[in-house]
Order: sequence, then C-alpha cells, then structure tokens
Amino acid sequence: MAHTRRGFLATAAAGGALALGARRTNAQAGGEVVLAGAHVVTMDPGLGDLATGDVHIRDGAIAAVAASIAAPGVPRRDMRGRVVMPGFVDTHWHMWNTIARGLPSSRLGPFAKTMGALAKVWTPQASALSVRLALAEAVNSGITTAQNWAHNTATPDFAEAELAAQRASGVRGRFAYGYPQALSPDTTIDVAALKRFAERHGGAGGLVLLGMCARGPDRSADDVWRGEWRAARELKLPITAHVASNRASAAEGAIAVMHRDGLLGPDVQIVHATHARPEDFALMKEAGSPLSISPWTELEVGYGLPAIPAMAASGVEMGLSVDNMVLAGRADMFDVMRLTADLAAGMAEKQSALPDRRVLEWATIGGARGLGLGDAVGSLKPGKRADVIAVRADGLTTSPAGTVDFLLTHAAQPADVDFVMIDGVVHKEGGRLTRVDVEALVAEAAATIARLTEQAGVR
Ligand SMILES: [Zn+2]
Repeated sequence: MAHTRRGFLATAAAGGALALGARRTNAQAGGEVVLAGAHVVTMDPGLGDLATGDVHIRDGAIAAVAASIAAPGVPRRDMRGRVVMPGFVDTHWHMWNTIARGLPSSRLGPFAKTMGALAKVWTPQASALSVRLALAEAVNSGITTAQNWAHNTATPDFAEAELAAQRASGVRGRFAYGYPQALSPDTTIDVAALKRFAERHGGAGGLVLLGMCARGPDRSADDVWRGEWRAARELKLPITAHVASNRASAAEGAIAVMHRDGLLGPDVQIVHATHARPEDFALMKEAGSPLSISPWTELEVGYGLPAIPAMAASGVEMGLSVDNMVLAGRADMFDVMRLTADLAAGMAEKQSALPDRRVLEWATIGGARGLGLGDAVGSLKPGKRADVIAVRADGLTTSPAGTVDFLLTHAAQPADVDFVMIDGVVHKEGGRLTRVDVEALVAEAAATIARLTEQAGVR
C-alpha cells in the first residue's frame, strides 16, 4: 500500500491509546507478537509504507508485514499512533570514551590532548562502563545496530572488556578491534594479539561480529597500514579507517591510492571523507567501499562541512553515525538525520536537495548494507531479524507533522521512541528501558569519570 499523507495523519490521529492488552512478550525463542495498527515504514522497496499495518514477529524474526494480520492466539501490541520502522544503524561510534561526555577540551588542550591524557589512565573497566552507557543511549534513541570503533585498545584486556559489555547488552553490532591511542604511526599493532582475539571470539556469531579499526593511510606509515590491511583480510575481518577527514589529509589523495592498489572494497569502510573529491567518491562507489559520516562531530571538531551533495550524487553506500559522546553530547540519530538533510540543502543552495527519505535510508538500510548486515536488518521484510522500533506520532512535536518522512527526520526525538525490539527481544517499552538500571549506570559513570579526570590532571 502506498503511503499517503492523509493515511498517515489519520493513523496519527487515532493514536494516544495505551498499549491495550500488550503483554511483556519477547518474540525470541518461540515468542511471538503482532505489532498492530501502526503506520509502518518498512524501508523495503517492494513493501513500501503501510498507512495502517501490522508486523508479525516470531522467533526473533519478521514473519509477515501486511495491512492486517490475523494470527489467532498470538499476543497483539497496540501500536496505533506510532510509526513502526526498522531500528537505526550507527556505523561508527567510539564507545570507549562515552563517560568523557562533554570533555572535548580541557586545561591540557583540545580534543587530542585531552583524550590522550585520559587514555593514559583509562582502564578496561572504564571502557566497558562506557560501552554500557553508549548502548543504553543507543537503545533509548532507537539505534539497534552499532559499530563500536575501539581505538583505545591499549591491551587485549580492553578489547575483551568492551566486547563482553557489547555482547551482554543485547544490542546488535560490530566490535572493531583497534590500537592504543599512543601507538606511534611507525608501529604496527600487535597483529598476533588481534589474531588470538579473532580466533577466540570470531566464531561465536551472535549479535556482535568482529572487525578491525585502523589508523589507515592518513594516520600511520605506508608499510604499517598496508600490513594491517593484509592481517585483517587474512582473518576475514572487515576494516574501517578515518580517511580524508581534514583538508590536509584529503590533499594526500589516499583514496585514489587505495583504489589503485585494491585496498578498497565492501570490506573497507571509509569514515568521514569530509574533504574527499567527487572523483574519490566515484572510486569508492566502484570498489564497493561504504562511507560513514558523522556530521555533528565533523562540525564540532573542526573538520568542516561534509561534502554531502557530492557523496549523495556519487551513489556510494552511505551510513550515518554519532561518532562519540565527548563531542556530540548525545546519541541522537534523529538529530543526525536532520543535520544531514539540511546541510545538503544549504550546501547545494537548493531546498530538499537531499530528500528526507534518502536520509532515512542512510540511517537504516544503507548503514546496514555498509556493515554487511543488509540481508539481516535495516528494513522490515519477512525473513529478516526483528530489529524494530516504534516512534510516537501523537506527541507535542510530532503531531501534526505533515509527512512521516518529515516526522522522522525533523520532528521526532529520542524521547518519542516508545518501543525498541532487537532480535525479537524488547529493550524499551512505554518509553522506558527494560534491561538497564539507568540511575545506577549514570551514577557509576559519573563517579568513574570524576576519578579518571583527577588522575589525568584534566581538571
Ligand atoms: Zn571516528
């Protein structure tokens, strides 16, 4: 059924109802539920939007999506007044420093100096706590898949602690094993340790897969990053690197070199590329390398305006990200989408240069494809895993909201995320996190960062 503005408004107007008869039903391991009566945004080109529709979930997977699903005996969760859609996918997030939120500079200097000092006193426990805080925020704002870009892997213990926290969270994603913050650009990471880690954890499958985050051509010596690429590819680990983030690094032309030497591909995600040229995006598109941008932090750290119109025109696989809470403040994919769409319009000097629906694709199915998860998540389609969120369409800022695309990219906020399910397991319902003690988590985070800033001489 095609989406209509009238249909959307009618659905929203019918809302406000409580989740009548809804039980605390997880749809994993034999669990089953029908999310009923929502405005369904599937992000699947064949299924489109349903002005009023049901989503049937069974055994952690999507069993059916249709205007009306009769499933006798299956609990129904009333989703009237809500938009039901795939969870957001965050493609690049340095979770380890989440408890350092709001410390992008200090008496020691700007971002690199302050975080460098903190990294020296950091512990695996602090990283794991940060991951827990990050993923609680992720769920709260409707992010159901996230790539953890662990670039403070000072020792393998840090990686163990972060991966364990990520897996315990029940949030889908990738753990990208990294490097110590203080590692010299001339020094290769401990490849043997990476190999042991991959052998120990790579086969486990589950919701969190493995990858490698690297300094890449802009931040390490030529033989160093090429060697790290070889190691990752031998271990079949996808790679991610920040490239062409600022003007100086873009001028070095690394993307063309990577393309020439076969070092791009679907397994190599490029992050930022803020100042890459249209030719670079064309090479990435040709090689199949996905791109992750984080427009808020790209502004905040002073990289500049991301070349969104050129990125969009190139057809490169786009994903969005929050990057880090040190600079960004909050993990708000709605806000990231709004900025992405509106930067594109401003830079192109053309209203709606980047349609809201296109940005919504980047935040869901595009990000999923870029992480190699396009067959599993990113859209609501029978057979895919049940990573589903519901966004209230009857709130102060979301009703009226014109179109559902505008609602999701410009009006809604994390507080409007009413329900979150990952792999069939409920993580948020009635606007409250169901698996996290927020009060205790926040208190632990505050106490830990107070101690670490003291030790690092940041305060
Ligand atoms: Zn980054």
